[in-house]
Order: sequence, then C-alpha cells, then structure tokens
Amino acid sequence: MTSAADRRQHILDEIDRAAELAKRDPADVQLIAVSKGRSVEEIEPLIEAGQRDFGENRVQEALAKWPALLARYSGIRLHEIGQLQSNKAAEAVKLFDVIHSVDRSSLLSALSKEAEKAGRSPAVYVQVNIGEEEQKGGCAIAHIAAMIEAVRASPLPLAGLMAIPPLGVEPAPYFALLAKLARRHDVTGLSIGMSGDFRAAVMLGSTTVRVGTALFEDA
Ligand SMILES: *Cc1c(COP(=O)(O)O)cnc(C)c1O
Repeated sequence: MTSAADRRQHILDEIDRAAELAKRDPADVQLIAVSKGRSVEEIEPLIEAGQRDFGENRVQEALAKWPALLARYSGIRLHEIGQLQSNKAAEAVKLFDVIHSVDRSSLLSALSKEAEKAGRSPAVYVQVNIGEEEQKGGCAIAHIAAMIEAVRASPLPLAGLMAIPPLGVEPAPYFALLAKLARRHDVTGLSIGMSGDFRAAVMLGSTTVRVGTALFEDA
C-alpha cells in the first residue's frame, strides 16, 4: 500500500513531466486535493505532507470538517468546486478562498453582497458548460463574455475559467477549446484536469488541476 504522501509526490512528478513536455513552467500548475467525501483522518496525512489547497463540493460537509483543521494548520486554502446555491453564499464566502463554480449572475450578485458584508473576497472562476450538455452546471459558451465582464465589475477577483468535460469521451478537445476561450478573453487561470485526465489538461494549459481519487486511493 502506498501512502497519501507517496501518491501526492507521484502526482506532482507527473504534473512536472506533463508541463515540461509542453514547454511550460511546472510552477505555473497548482494541485488541488479534492477532499469531498473524505474524512479528517484521511485529509491530515496530506496536510502533513505539505498539501495546502483542498477542494470540497458541499458547503455543509466542508463546514463540518474544516474549521478544526484550519485552526490546527496554517496556510490552507479551501476551494469550492461544486454547484453552489445562492442561499449558501454567506457561508461559502466565509469559508472558501476560491470559488470555481460561478456560472450565473444571480450567484455572482449573492457572493458579491456577502463578500462586502464579510469583508472577505474569494477569487472566482467562471464555470463554463464546455460540452454544451443539458443538466450540467456552467454558463453557456455564448454567455462567457458577459459573465467575465460581470466578474471584472464585481468586488471578487477573477481567477479564470473552469470546466468539467463530458464524461466518457476524449477530454483534450474540450480542454483546448476552454484554453482558446480563455485567451480570447484575456483570462489566465484554467481550472481543468481531474484524476483521469490531469496530464492532458496540463499539456493543454491547465493552471489548476483538481485531483481526488488518485490522491486518496491506491490505483
Ligand atoms: C470530484 C471532483 C473532482 C475530482 O475528481 P477525481 O476524478 O476523483 O479526481 C474534480 N472536480 C470536480 C468539480 C469534482 O466534483
């Protein structure tokens, strides 16, 4: 059995290799450990190994797990990567440093209002429905320009674009499309790549990979 620290080091090495193949600086790629559904006991060894960025997809679950860990360890940054209801905006703004799932102006307004109240401004990614799938989160490709403009006019810093490509098909064309859209709108951050496809995502420009299974489970 490999340890969480070993799995993390292996993934960091793979990120470096993919970046070098694409003539990119490996330091430009950040690893988020997706800890949704994982216990505090599973998370702690990764923190001890030096991991500082963590992703959660449910506000209630994150609130149950993280305050105690944040009190014990310094420098941790929490990322909201799941769909967010506007009625959770106040809690999200207080807990998260980065929100990857901003896909509509009503949510952006709720977050902006709560940010001003709380005196805390998490950075936000505009989530794009890159495969134009019904039932999937993310704003339509046709609405990206307006969403980016709205974030730039808000009190929240724009971190970049985020997407989850359609399941079960080759993800590279979707990563390439998101990268092209980012360039077109002068956006530098790209939150793409999960356990199964982070190498391809890094080769195609990802600056932030979100990895869960490959960090927490043996292959
Ligand atoms: C769960 C999740 C991930 C991590 O997926 P793995 O395949 O376990 O690495 C990444 N991004 C989002 C939005 C997720 O919900």
